[in-house]
Amino acid sequence: MIDPSLDYNGQTVCIIGGSSGIGNATAHAFRNQGADVHVTGTRASETDYDAAEGSDLVGLTYHQLDAADDSAIIALRQKFDRLDILVCSQGMVMYKRAEFEPENFARVVQVNLNSLMTCAGEFHDLLKQAKGSLIIISSTAAFHATVGNPGYNASKAGAAGLTRTLGKAWAPDGIRVNGIAPGLIATKMTKVTTDNPQRREATVKSIPVGRIGDPDDMAGLALFLASPLAGYIVGQTIIADGGLLL
Ligand code: NAD
Repeated sequence: MIDPSLDYNGQTVCIIGGSSGIGNATAHAFRNQGADVHVTGTRASETDYDAAEGSDLVGLTYHQLDAADDSAIIALRQKFDRLDILVCSQGMVMYKRAEFEPENFARVVQVNLNSLMTCAGEFHDLLKQAKGSLIIISSTAAFHATVGNPGYNASKAGAAGLTRTLGKAWAPDGIRVNGIAPGLIATKMTKVTTDNPQRREATVKSIPVGRIGDPDDMAGLALFLASPLAGYIVGQTIIADGGLLL
C-alpha cells in the first residue's frame, strides 16, 4: 500500500535530465507512486536510448532538451499547464583537465548551473499554483575541491547556493526548494571510475557503507523531499554519499 504521504497520484512531475542515471531512477520512483512523469534528454527521441545505458523510458513522457539553450527551456514550459514537482538532474562533466579551457568551463557552468535558474524561473508560476517542490541535484563536489574539474566544482557549489537562495525566496509562494548532493553513484557519468577495477576498489574502500551508490538511493530521497514528510525542510542540500565526506 502507498504511504499517503508518498502518494503522488494526480501530480505531474518533470525531471530535467531524466533520460538516464539518477534522473531516470527518480522518474520511475515518482511514477511507481502514481505520478504522471515527464523526462528530458538530449537525444532526438526516446528510441535513441537503450536500457543497457541506464535509460528506461517506459511509462514516461519524453521531451528533447538541450538545457544550454534558454529558448528550448521556454518552449518546454509551454507544453505544461500544471506542474507539481520539478527535479533538475541535468549535468555534465569534462575529464582530462578540459574544464581548464575557458570555453569548456563556460559550457559546464551553463549546463550545470545557469540552466537551473532558467528552468526554475520558467516553471515558477506553475510550481506556485501547485504549492509544489523544486529539487536540484548538486554534488558532494559542492563541498570540497575536485582538482581536475573546476567547472563542475564551481557549478555544483553554485547549485547548492542557488538552492538556499530560491528556498528562502520562494517559501512565501508555497514552493519548497531543496537539493540532493550525491556522492559516487553508478551511472553513465561515473563509468570512468566504476568500469576500472583498480579505481573502483580504491573508491569502495573510501566509502564507509562499503558500496558505490545506486541511482535508486537518490530517488528515495527525492520522493521524501517532495512529500509532506519534508514539509518543514527548505533550502537544504542533503548529502547522500554513504558517509564518503565524513
Ligand atoms: P547521467 O549522465 O546518467 O545523467 C545526466 C543527465 O543530464 C542525462 O539525462 C542527460 O541527458 C542530461 N544532460 C546532459 N547534458 C545536458 C544538456 N546539455 N541539456 C540537458 N540535459 C543534459 O549521470 P547522472 O550521474 O545520473 O547525473 C545526474 C545528476 O547527478 C547530474 O547533475 C550530476 O552532476 C549529478 N551527480 C552525479 C553523481 C554520480 O556519482 N553519478 C555524483 C554527484 C552528482
